[in-house]
Amino acid sequence: MQEASKKEAKLIGIAMIAGLIAGLALYFSGHGELAAYIKPIGTVFIRLLKMVIVPLVLSSIFMAMYHLGTPESLGSMGRKAVGYYFLTTAMAVFFGLIMVNLINPGVGVEGIQDTAGLHGLSEAMHQKVTQSKGLYQTILDVIINAIPTNPFEAMATSTVLQVIVFAIMFGIVALYMPKKAQPVVSFMESLEAMTLRLTHVIMKFAPLGIFVLMMDIMARTGFSAIVSLSKYMATVIIGLLLHACVLMFIASWRMKKSPLFILKNLSSPLLTAFSTSSSAATLPITMTCVEENLGVRKDTAKFVLPLGATINMDGTALYESVAAIFIAQVYGIELGIGQQIVIFMTASLAAIGAAAIPGAGLITMSIVLGAVGLPIEGIGLILAVDRILDMFRTTVNVFGDCVGTIVVDSMMDNKEFSNSEDNPLIEGTAN
Ligand code: ASP
Repeated sequence: MQEASKKEAKLIGIAMIAGLIAGLALYFSGHGELAAYIKPIGTVFIRLLKMVIVPLVLSSIFMAMYHLGTPESLGSMGRKAVGYYFLTTAMAVFFGLIMVNLINPGVGVEGIQDTAGLHGLSEAMHQKVTQSKGLYQTILDVIINAIPTNPFEAMATSTVLQVIVFAIMFGIVALYMPKKAQPVVSFMESLEAMTLRLTHVIMKFAPLGIFVLMMDIMARTGFSAIVSLSKYMATVIIGLLLHACVLMFIASWRMKKSPLFILKNLSSPLLTAFSTSSSAATLPITMTCVEENLGVRKDTAKFVLPLGATINMDGTALYESVAAIFIAQVYGIELGIGQQIVIFMTASLAAIGAAAIPGAGLITMSIVLGAVGLPIEGIGLILAVDRILDMFRTTVNVFGDCVGTIVVDSMMDNKEFSNSEDNPLIEGTAN
């Protein structure tokens, strides 16, 4: 790990703890509203990170395609990445179902039924929640909506999955007409380098941004909601920890490095994910750290990470399965094995469909609830602690993407990187 990023990670960690303490101090002294005065600093930080997402995803996926050299290599990497996404998402939902059936956090819960209802939901969320669709239609929508009708519109509206599809296709075309494509390739190359440099500049601002974001959330929520829903929260967090341990084992085995080494080198993206609750906003930092600190081949990281940040959400999938069964338990609805299998499938799908932004998992919960006929109003039960659980699940989402990149990179044959630079993993330069 480079000295500069070591210092950066340390500062981010200190900022997070300081923000947590300051936020709780404000909450308990009854001045929680004061946090709102400096919250704009946190908002500016998230906006800066979001600012680089579209140019970064476009240029890095395009260049990864171009470097892969052949559509066969792309197919091989794509299959490995998607295979990893499916397996680990299924594993996450499975862990969620096991934990919720063991702990039964919703059994015997009294008093919070009254809070169920959509009163707390904003108008926009209410509309999305009530537009629940069937399983088949959901799958179809995910596929159709991934194809942009206008790539510029997709970029302008930050529709990341559409930008990815365009960048993959455009990158492949460039492979077949290298001469004519040269100006575009050069443009993308410098766009990528400049965006990464900009990310480094924004990272200097991360400790301050993260301090403010942490302070704001603690000053607003304190511990009140945590107490009444503690068993439910514990179920989600234990499930997430269990899943993260298995992912860590996989990463450590594939990299032949200790878990501590991996954790230290990924601390910046993990802490940023925790504080921003957005895999998309964390993406620029994730890419920099996975390439620079873990020595994963650039072309693997450039392809697997943006795709993973968009469709691979282990934490969200786990949370959705626990939340659905918790809601059923609170309402006293018995779910048989068949319905739990439907939850297993829809939670995986809902996680793929969820945007990589704060609260997205809560919105796609309606898919899971609707599929087993649970009342959509049940979302009201878990609303109070959703923002806090979002921090934990987003961290696991980002960790899952990082481990996926390590796994796919370790499975790629060196021959499959025909245009790429040397692989630091093979060269043994990874530190
Ligand atoms: N906030 C999560 C993410 O960005 C998505 C979710 O709400 O579960 O990964």
